[in-house]
Amino acid sequence: MAKTDKHQPRFVRQMTLSDFDALFPDENACRTYLLLRRWPGGPKCPRCQNDHVYESTARPWHWQCMKCGPKPRSPYRFALTTGTIFEESKKPLIMWFKVLHLMVTSKKGISALQIHRMLGTGSYQTAWYMCMRLRAGMQDPEFRQLMGIVEVDETFIGGLNKNRHSKDRIKGTGGPASGKITVVGAIARKGNVVCKIVERTDTDSLTGFVREVTKAHATLVITDEFRAYDAIGIYNREHQFVRHSAGEYVRGNVHTNTIESFWSLLKRGVIGTYHHVSKKYLPLYLNEFQFRFNNRNEADIFGKAIGGC
Ligand SMILES: [Zn+2]
Repeated sequence: MAKTDKHQPRFVRQMTLSDFDALFPDENACRTYLLLRRWPGGPKCPRCQNDHVYESTARPWHWQCMKCGPKPRSPYRFALTTGTIFEESKKPLIMWFKVLHLMVTSKKGISALQIHRMLGTGSYQTAWYMCMRLRAGMQDPEFRQLMGIVEVDETFIGGLNKNRHSKDRIKGTGGPASGKITVVGAIARKGNVVCKIVERTDTDSLTGFVREVTKAHATLVITDEFRAYDAIGIYNREHQFVRHSAGEYVRGNVHTNTIESFWSLLKRGVIGTYHHVSKKYLPLYLNEFQFRFNNRNEADIFGKAIGGC
């Protein structure tokens, strides 16, 4: 076995490719699955949530709602995929499901190029587009503030600077001025992670993030000695820090190893798998990595992801 780190998250066993093929032999199996995930109690109108809808006799997997049609006798018509990320896609659901399965079961992510090669999505661009839509579906709508021991740290994404010729290298590598993107993250020990892009690493940005994602009176925030975190204590969160500059990394329970493990997972994914990620799309990749991490103990991560699509 490879070198293990006790702070590395463990992921439960996920559906294998043969499990997938058994569960989804054809397009209708995928439709039935989506139907049950979306509407466990039967189809509902996506506009008015009314469940007295009528199955279309002319078009399978379509329904009509009489309540919110534009006029009486002119019902609102909707499909299984109306209002989902699969809406208006020419690709069959089974292709979407295969892409999603590969994404949620690859710990470090999987590139659109790899997906295109494995599944024959028609073109690389199609695979890329599908991945992006699926990442958008991985946003956690039920976010609750973190509590307990929460490690907070920032990192810089876009590690191309070191590969540049010295004369092109931007000074202050790693800082916000280097052209890299700054991401701040918080992780509850044995719990969830939340991270986002920040424009600045000043007090307002970093303590603002801590206040947004952690619960007051219920959180011990652990950071490094970076001064921008100094104000955390005045917002009703306990605050302790380790002095990395003095060579101190662990003092009893006080360390930032958990968030650093997440950063290394994210960076190995973003740099190793996707090579280059622009600032515009990084939030979607963050969605993906957060989703996979926060559902690492969820045996049915695929079903959970479909629920958000
Ligand atoms: Zn309706």
